[in-house]
Amino acid sequence: MQKLKVKRSMNPEVLAKGKQALEQWRKEKAYAEKKGGKFLEAWKEEQALKKAQKKTTPMMAIKNFCNDCVATRTDITNCTARQCALWIYRPYQND
Ligand code: SF4
Repeated sequence: MQKLKVKRSMNPEVLAKGKQALEQWRKEKAYAEKKGGKFLEAWKEEQALKKAQKKTTPMMAIKNFCNDCVATRTDITNCTARQCALWIYRPYQND
C-alpha cells in the first residue's frame, strides 16, 4: 500500500504548536496595547527587529562578520587566519 505523504504544514503537532505560538503572541500584543505608551513602542520595535532577523541567513551573518573583521572583499578572499572558526565558510573564496 502506498504511503500518503503528509505535508509538514498539515502535521497536527506542527499546527498545534503554531496555534499555541499565535495565541501567545496575541496575548503579548494585547498586554502591550493595554499598557500603551513607551511599552507599546518598545514591543513594536522588538517585533520589527525579530522580523528582520528572521530574514537573515547564516551565510549573510558570516559575510557581515567577515566584513566587520577586515576592510575589503579581497582581504576576505586572502584571509590567512585559519584558526578562525569561520575561515572555511568565509565568502568570496573563489574570487
Ligand atoms: S574568516 Fe577571516 S575575515 Fe572572516 S571573520 Fe575569520 S578572520 Fe575575519
